[in-house]
Amino acid sequence: MNMITNHLPTAELQALDAAHHMHPFTENEGLAKKGARVITRAKGVWITDSEGHDILDGMAGLWCVAIGYGREELAEVAARQMRELPFYNTFFQTTHVPAIALANKLAELAPGDLNHVFFAGGGSEANDTNIRMVRHYWALKGQPERNILISRKNAYHGSTVGSGSLGGMSGMHAQGGMPIPDIHHINQPNWYAEGGDMDPGAFGLARARELEEAIERHGPDRVGAFIAEPIQGAGGVIIPPATYWPEIQRICDKYGILLIADEVICGFGRTGNWFGSQTLGIKPHIMTVAKGLSSGYAPIGASIVCDEVAQTIARDEFNHGYTYSGHPVAAAVALENLRIIEEEGIVAHVRDVAGPYLKQKWEALAEHPLVGEASISGLMGSIALTPDKASRAKFAGEEGTVGYICRERCFANNLVMRHVGDRMIIAPPLVITPAEIDTLVERARKSLDETLEKITAEGLLTAA
Ligand SMILES: *Cc1c(COP(=O)(O)O)cnc(C)c1O
Repeated sequence: MNMITNHLPTAELQALDAAHHMHPFTENEGLAKKGARVITRAKGVWITDSEGHDILDGMAGLWCVAIGYGREELAEVAARQMRELPFYNTFFQTTHVPAIALANKLAELAPGDLNHVFFAGGGSEANDTNIRMVRHYWALKGQPERNILISRKNAYHGSTVGSGSLGGMSGMHAQGGMPIPDIHHINQPNWYAEGGDMDPGAFGLARARELEEAIERHGPDRVGAFIAEPIQGAGGVIIPPATYWPEIQRICDKYGILLIADEVICGFGRTGNWFGSQTLGIKPHIMTVAKGLSSGYAPIGASIVCDEVAQTIARDEFNHGYTYSGHPVAAAVALENLRIIEEEGIVAHVRDVAGPYLKQKWEALAEHPLVGEASISGLMGSIALTPDKASRAKFAGEEGTVGYICRERCFANNLVMRHVGDRMIIAPPLVITPAEIDTLVERARKSLDETLEKITAEGLLTAA
């Protein structure tokens, strides 16, 4: 056994972590001074840290633990698969049962003619695949100049060079030479922050029409695809106005450009349907999936591809793949996860039980003096913090200061609720019960009260 265990004192684990572990999306020098919270075990919707706190995980890990922690079935399947066939590749005219079975299952679950699956190690890799697949598709159609992909500001599509370029996070683009050429970003349909005096419907239409303007600007014969999350996740759980997606769909259809729905968060029940595309009425040519695909128990992602694109790509050798494409252990775990979601009716639980229950409690938070908006779809929700509800004002101080304070209050109250700037977001495991939702919302409200108290005392409750 390895020498570093849960039973070492927390401070010792933190020191070793700080000495050797570079955390993603983290200012590591600051974290080293403070010490990372050490998570030691988890069960259901609860995570436990090395100090023995039981914390309600309002973020399902990183949006992924759909069926909750501690499901023995997945551990069993992984152990069995490791003993039988821990690895084999799918590059050189070979295949194996877990990859075959999972591809078939995904083709069955995915809507329309999304019948073909290209496996990846996670969502970032799957979106890199999508960039290359879309461009190669158009090349095979005799239109190689059709290599532009249009995405949106504040989108999150992953953190590799390709997927980070597709994403629209300015902080990411500022580092490491992104975006790569021929990826362009239009504005996001974030009515709360950017809608000004427009009504949400008109704003949704205006933002969708930016796609048409971008296509006309770059040339309809240059644009290959548009990519978007049905509901932006890491951007702050931004639910677009109802007018937005139908207009996007119309524009994609009109110009014959491929539509990629990044379902990495929305997929597998999060919004109360199997896929966010079904909730939002989107007909994509390609869906990106990961996260809930395995409930995070094993790293795996995929592109689920329509007949036309897959059959075109099949005509040529596609010089692309990952060592772990369709990894047998990850595929077996994903398959078992999907079996549990299906047999336990977890999508219906989100749609009919947990989703409506949380919605009612969550939207009531809009009455809190610090909350400008509380919105939710299925089990992904957000609240916008504001010093002035009527004008949806931002805080005068640096963006994210108040959100960070609120997040810290949540942790102190044993709730994981994340902040994106001054928006607080939740996406709990899909198996959360009404009683656990009560606890979640009580702790969120208490944390909001404490945040209001703290920022009032510190003079931060002023509008920009
Ligand atoms: C998390 C995420 C990704 C990236 O997935 P990784 O598994 O972290 O590579 C891509 N798209 C969306 C919408 C995501 O939320």
